[in-house]
Amino acid sequence: MPLITEVLRPEDLAPVLRTCRAVVFDNDGVLVDTADLQEAAWRRAFDACLREHGDDEPFGHDDYRRHVDGRERHDGAAAFLRARGVDLPDGTPDDEPGTDSVWAVAAAKDRAFTERLREQGASSWTGSVRLVGALQRAGVALAVVSSSRHAREVLESAGLLGCFAHVVDGQEAARLDLAGKPEPDLFAEAARRLAVPPRHAVMVEDAEAGIEAGVRAGFGLVIGVDRRDEPESRARMRRAGAHLVVADLSDLLLAAHDEGTAT
Ligand SMILES: [Mg+2]
Repeated sequence: MPLITEVLRPEDLAPVLRTCRAVVFDNDGVLVDTADLQEAAWRRAFDACLREHGDDEPFGHDDYRRHVDGRERHDGAAAFLRARGVDLPDGTPDDEPGTDSVWAVAAAKDRAFTERLREQGASSWTGSVRLVGALQRAGVALAVVSSSRHAREVLESAGLLGCFAHVVDGQEAARLDLAGKPEPDLFAEAARRLAVPPRHAVMVEDAEAGIEAGVRAGFGLVIGVDRRDEPESRARMRRAGAHLVVADLSDLLLAAHDEGTAT
């Protein structure tokens, strides 16, 4: 975990969080900064596939945001390939990394991601670590939901795994046959494990598919994280159902408001 010496008290939480009993966090993009690792891994897998199908336009950042961010990897691969008109057989989850089935492309992305994570490691946002610390001191039950099968490895790499009572990740989704986001299953399972009804819990997401999942699971407060902090992206999160949109999780701490606002 990044070295943070301040000790935040429960009263440092923004009022909107003071009565909550549980918070469920998405991982990638909310707690841990894996976007560059994820996008680079997708690019390597998709560009190899696109070249084989005579498409010279590489996978771009908009494609990442629109088709694969926040989605389980098979669903993300299928969505992007469909958008480009690349018609591949679905294959099976046991397919080797490659370019001739949707599952093979998903496996190629998975291999590229694992290689990069082990080479480079993952880092967390300071604001996220501060908020998690304040919530822990307030006795709020905490869990992580992620579509990724590597969520535990990523959290461990960032030094955050020990902060959470439960991690409902891609491996758990496969084991329990839970549908991926935007279906509500992962968030509903996290609330169940924390023994808190979703209406009394908060969830935090940075992808529209995840926000929709939290709304459908019935969370009392759905918080979107828009690190671009742009009116258009904020509006998209609102339309997806976010009750509140912040640019960084330190916005949910009063200390941050005091530092950043001259009143
Ligand atoms: Mg995310």
